[in-house]
Amino acid sequence: MTRSAPTADVAVVGGGIIGLATAERLGARGLAVAVIDPAGIAGGATGASGGLVRAFDLSASRRRSAAAGLDLYLRRGHRGTWPAIRRQGSLSLVARGDLPQAAAAVADLRSAGHEAEILTAHDLATRFPALDVPDDLVAVHEPNAGWLPVGPVAHAMARDAGPGLQLVPARATHLLTSGSRATGVHTTAGPVHARAVLLAAGTGSTSLAASAGVHLPLRTRAVRYCLFRVGEPAGLTTLPTLVDATTGAWLRPWGSDSLVLAGVSSQETDVPETVRPGVTAQEEERVRAVVRHRYPHLASAPVAGGVTAYDATSPTGLGEVTVRTELGGLVTATGWNGGGFKLAPSIGELAAARLQEVAAR
Ligand SMILES: Cc1cc2nc3c(=O)[nH]c(=O)nc-3n(C[C@H](O)[C@H](O)[C@H](O)COP(=O)(O)OP(=O)(O)OC[C@H]3O[C@@H](n4cnc5c(N)ncnc54)[C@H](O)[C@@H]3O)c2cc1C
Repeated sequence: MTRSAPTADVAVVGGGIIGLATAERLGARGLAVAVIDPAGIAGGATGASGGLVRAFDLSASRRRSAAAGLDLYLRRGHRGTWPAIRRQGSLSLVARGDLPQAAAAVADLRSAGHEAEILTAHDLATRFPALDVPDDLVAVHEPNAGWLPVGPVAHAMARDAGPGLQLVPARATHLLTSGSRATGVHTTAGPVHARAVLLAAGTGSTSLAASAGVHLPLRTRAVRYCLFRVGEPAGLTTLPTLVDATTGAWLRPWGSDSLVLAGVSSQETDVPETVRPGVTAQEEERVRAVVRHRYPHLASAPVAGGVTAYDATSPTGLGEVTVRTELGGLVTATGWNGGGFKLAPSIGELAAARLQEVAAR
């Protein structure tokens, strides 16, 4: 007896946070979804993510997505089943020259019901004495933001997708097409037939898109962090998360063991698509040389581990959900450039709506 090939309304390639957030929303729309990934749930960039979530962004479109994402994370998903946000607060540092735009963004967030305020360096010194912030920077403080444990969130999204979700533990090798339409995905475990296909496979999406003549220029970019061991009473493990737009530094309390997670954004591209524990001594020093200016205690704190990983970035540096005009039934959602976790609930909603439309055509 031959086993019939899996059939779904939508085939989602990539079991990262974007693919899963989309699968969850497709399930809520009553659609059957096959999620194809040889690494299972959150085996790529998502599994390495720091999980920082906040609504503030100087760009209005990213702010809308991040704010919608934060709303949903605060509600613990549509069914209230996702892990709760660690509401330690979020500080986003910007140059004083950007104060007018930051103040406008704060007004925009407040009008949408988000708590946010501008703090000067003097305010920060009073409220968070473990921080060192020079007078030429200001902070946007969001008391309800913070961070989330990413793996458990990804698994909760998969559970919420319901019984219509099939996980296919295989690598997608090429798109199946009929005429000018996508009809599914061929995988190392055989074909998966579907009325629409989402490519949410990071840089793995490029060769799949190319197999159907769709140009999707993505590159990997290095994303790494160190874990610094700090003892109390340094006061660092109770601080809000911090993202410093002027240096590229991002930090958060690890959540246990007196550890602080700290990274500095990197422009290094075309790195391997692998996630491994630890960072090089050179990376440790690169991170320390930057973050010590905001957290002086980190100048001498020992490094207790870290992560070396990657994310997919597009030529614009901005992620996009795109209905491909080159091939009917195909949608891509890629290029999140180190910031996709906080956007995922909103991106999932958007991608699911687009997929439902293209599946019905
Ligand atoms: C160290 C680190 C820290 C980060 N911190 C934050 C943060 O604090 N806040 C934030 O908002 N964002 C953060 N990010 C970014 C965020 O994690 C990513 O933008 C997001 O996880 C990307 O999700 P994704 O689903 O697009 O990709 P991925 O998680 O990479 O998922 C893509 C999946 O596709 C699979 N795949 C690839 N090729 C194929 C194929 N041919 N067939 C089948 N499957 C395939 C891969 O196995 C992978 O699982 C961080 C990223 C890193 C690496």
